[in-house]
Amino acid sequence: MATKGKNNTLKLKFDTSWSYAPAPESKSAATINPQYDLFINGEWQKPLSKKYFDTINPATEEKLSEVAEASEGDVNKAVIAARQAYEKWWKKMPAKERGKYIFRIARMIQEKARELAIIESLDGGKPIRESRDFDVPAAANHFFYYAGWADKMEYAFPNRRTEPLGVAGQIIPWNFPLLMAAWKIAPALATGNTVVLKPAETTPLTALKLAEIIQESDLPPGVVNIITGAGVSGAAIVNHPDINKIAFTGSTEVGKIIQRAIAGTHKKVTLELGGKAANIIFEDAPIDQAVEGVINGIYFNQGHVCCAGSRLYVQESIAKEVVRKLKDRMETLIVGDPLDKNTDIGAINSRQQLDTIHKYLKIGKQEGAELYESSCRLPGKGFWCRPALFTNVAQSNRIAQEEIFGPVLAVLTFRTDDEVIEKANNSPYGLSAGVWTDKGSKIFNMTKRMRAGVIWANTFNKFDPSSPFGGYKESGFGREGGLHGLQPYVNLLS
Ligand code: NAD
Repeated sequence: MATKGKNNTLKLKFDTSWSYAPAPESKSAATINPQYDLFINGEWQKPLSKKYFDTINPATEEKLSEVAEASEGDVNKAVIAARQAYEKWWKKMPAKERGKYIFRIARMIQEKARELAIIESLDGGKPIRESRDFDVPAAANHFFYYAGWADKMEYAFPNRRTEPLGVAGQIIPWNFPLLMAAWKIAPALATGNTVVLKPAETTPLTALKLAEIIQESDLPPGVVNIITGAGVSGAAIVNHPDINKIAFTGSTEVGKIIQRAIAGTHKKVTLELGGKAANIIFEDAPIDQAVEGVINGIYFNQGHVCCAGSRLYVQESIAKEVVRKLKDRMETLIVGDPLDKNTDIGAINSRQQLDTIHKYLKIGKQEGAELYESSCRLPGKGFWCRPALFTNVAQSNRIAQEEIFGPVLAVLTFRTDDEVIEKANNSPYGLSAGVWTDKGSKIFNMTKRMRAGVIWANTFNKFDPSSPFGGYKESGFGREGGLHGLQPYVNLLS
């Protein structure tokens, strides 16, 4: 509906009284066992700890399954299995044969794509559209991509010989469980390493489904071991003396603990940590496109994205227009059942994460910023948060400096290129950034001067297995994806 505003300008008002008819994906297409053991040496093994913990659906708080809690002894069993598999089979196998296994895993992920997507949404709370159209296809693509590299090391590293490192310990977070497992496992296998992987405690189920796929693929036992548990199990992997490499994706806080733990050991490490990405809109940008990109950048996956564009810098001359358009667009976002194909924003992953987001909403208000939340109704049960944005934010505010990891945007303004570069770089993080402008020269100027591992121009949150990903500063080091993603898993010889 269009109405005339105070100064005779046309204002668009969205009629939110209508809604889409529900279009839920069927849970019956997915099988979740009531209990999962540890996947060690190609079989399901009871935990020595004899302990299990629940994994719940964050949209309903209902229990989905219980999974084993790996003790130090269990981790030791997994590392022994990985070491034996490395010595006995994997490092000796011709590279093109290794590639075939990785290719087979990719194909099987595709075959089971629907089930994997449903489980990802049930366990993690993300909208089915995302798990179906992004997480699962991207995971399969990673396996395909690295299957191709397995027998081409001499092209990846011309004039150098390579050797695998041995056993890789891999620890992943809860925001992209299957995709993070693929980012870790595929390059490790392609380069001839064996793996012990631990998913996050709130989202173990798709990694366990991947274990089923790996078992079905006939990969030699012990090449990939998947164990479950929380930080203590992760620490047991980090501290195990027979691990050659740690690949960690998670918070900067835990990344620092890991780096301290392995200091002075022979272990190699890559750390993919937190972020507070600057998304910058210049006055010459295509505004509607930019607004859509900002919405995607921060509200995609409930803002549970390390590279989420959580700091928006808008050039002063267009700030009012951009904020108005953002608010209008926020009103149209559908928050609700992750399994519904209409849903844009699903459930927050856990009660703990919801508490963190609420804490920051309070901090933002105390800091004097102005909070705007969409007016949508939230479901009664489960963990939910309305898409929110703060205006009147100062660069020094905690909401502009710290990672919130939720659907909360901090909007700041700028006048000149130099000013925005200084502000964008004024962050302990440096994972990603975005630039929206009509001018190619400005894009190159900005990307050269900004300290971020990935910078998108006139788009946001685009991923491809052939593109490296990783951070500057406290966002970590080492790259995953692309040719660069092979290097952390090999020793380069003369
Ligand atoms: P987290 O650091 O709390 O946990 C990550 C993983 O580490 C989990 O599996 C957890 O069980 C394990 N862990 C916890 N304590 C440990 C310890 N002492 N030793 C070893 N392992 C331990 O992070 P999270 O809350 O699961 O994930 C969110 C964080 O991950 C955010 O900061 C986000 O930015 C970051 N992240 C980064 C990337 C990236 O590519 N840079 C990608 C996704 C998420």
